[in-house]
Amino acid sequence: MLVFLLICIIIGVVLALVITFIRSVIAVASPSIECPACARKIKFIGNSGHCYKCRSKIYKHSNGTYMTRQ
Ligand SMILES: [Zn+2]
Repeated sequence: MLVFLLICIIIGVVLALVITFIRSVIAVASPSIECPACARKIKFIGNSGHCYKCRSKIYKHSNGTYMTRQ
């Protein structure tokens, strides 16, 4: 019974470490771009989203540049 509890705790700790590691990898891998509206450096994940500074809608154009949507 004690061994079972120990295994559960170890699995829990390993899972927490793995999730933390994956999150940090995603944060590092996501490109840092310049907001086309306010020219600040922002982290941008995916093909469309919001600038967290000026709240303008940003999307990735097919030619690779980032543009604001009016
Ligand atoms: Zn902005």
